[in-house]
Parts: sequence; C-alpha cells; structure tokens
Amino acid sequence: MSDIIRVTVWNEYLHELENNVVAQIYPHGIHNTIADFLGREKDIHVRTATLQEPDHGLAEEVLNETDVLIWWGHMAHGQVEDHVVERVYNRVLAGMGLIALHSAHHSKIFRKLMGTSCDLRWRDDGEKARVWVVEQGHPIAQGLGDYFEIPQEEMYGERFDIPAPDDLVFVSWFKGGEVFRSGCCYQRGRGRIFYFQPGHETFPVYYQPEVQLVIRNAVRWATPTFTEQRPVLMHSKEPLEPIN
Ligand code: ZN
Repeated sequence: MSDIIRVTVWNEYLHELENNVVAQIYPHGIHNTIADFLGREKDIHVRTATLQEPDHGLAEEVLNETDVLIWWGHMAHGQVEDHVVERVYNRVLAGMGLIALHSAHHSKIFRKLMGTSCDLRWRDDGEKARVWVVEQGHPIAQGLGDYFEIPQEEMYGERFDIPAPDDLVFVSWFKGGEVFRSGCCYQRGRGRIFYFQPGHETFPVYYQPEVQLVIRNAVRWATPTFTEQRPVLMHSKEPLEPIN
C-alpha cells in the first residue's frame, strides 16, 4: 500500500440542514469540518459521503479505496440501507478501519460489529465533560495529557451496553456525576474499530484541538498495515503430511 491513508468521512447530514443552531456551528456539515482538519495532514487523503447520495455515497469502489471510514449518524440510523451496512461490515472484516463517533453508537454498522444493543444513559444539558486518558502510551492518546475537558457536551453514561473493549483508552466524567467508557478499541476480523464519544451536534466539539488530535491519532491507528487480499477462510481436506 502507499503511504497515503485514504479516509472517507460519512455523515447522515440532516441536523445541519434542519436545525439553525447546528447549521451555525457546522455550516458545511460535520463531515466537512472533520474532512478539513484531516485534509491538512500530508499523509491523509480525505473524501466525504452522506446519507442522501446513491448508496449513501458508499459504493463498492469507494469502500475498496477507503483505508479508514469515519461515521457520524443520529436521527436516521434506520434509513441506512442494510445492503450498504453489509458492504461496510465485510470491508471492516477484510481490514478497513472504522471510527464511530458519538451517536454512531446506535448505528446499524456499529451494533452489528459489537453484537450488543449499544444502549446507554444520556442527558442533553450541555454540561462539562472531563475525558481521562486511562491507557497512557496508547497510540490514540499520543500528545494528550492526563485528561482534557470539553466545556459543553451531551452526557453519555454507563451502563454502555458494549462488549468489553480490547483496549479502553478514555473514560469520561460528566458534571452531573456519571462516567462513561468514551474511547474503546476493538478488532473484528482484520479491521480495527474505535468508538469515541465526543461530538454532540449542538456544541462545537469537532473544532476542539484535543478532539481533532484524537481523531487524527485514531485514523493512523485504524489504518490497515497489510496488503494481503486473499480470503480469511481456506479449506483444505488433505493433511499437510501423513497423519498415520
Ligand atoms: Zn448527541
């Protein structure tokens, strides 16, 4: 593979078109805000895709040319067509990285990959969040201190109904008292998956330097490191050497 990481930022892109508050924060959509700061990296080539495009912008060719897919969705999880979810799922198993942001915890693709409800506790009061780094030395936490704070965020609280993460990188505390596993790493097949909680649409979270740093780190962490394309399952009925 080349040294360029090919990222596709997917956004359902509805809140920004329907809600004035969100439109003022993200006038070109959350996807373009994320694409802008990723696109400033020399080793990242970024494109975007949205729900309303044919195949939600995720045709086979697009996914085949994507090393890491970033997913933001909330109000229209049910409108994402199952055949596209299946296509993304198969690409993750074959090695594509997936970064699920904020309310993507309830997306079809994340729930399918987790195999659990991914339900959680929530409160949209715009309270302070303190994101603690609990796995110092993890590539996704590189460049961060012990913690960082988000002035206003939607509270997501435990229990978060996910399988135990392979690596738990962040735990968030919210002013109202709850805690939440806010940075979770998984491997499914050959693909790496990172769930990251920050990013409620009515607060300018994706402009915050620490949040951008985490997403940049996560992209590099989730990038596949192999080129092999052969199927995972290989059947052979002949033994390699005589058994008896
Ligand atoms: Zn939200």
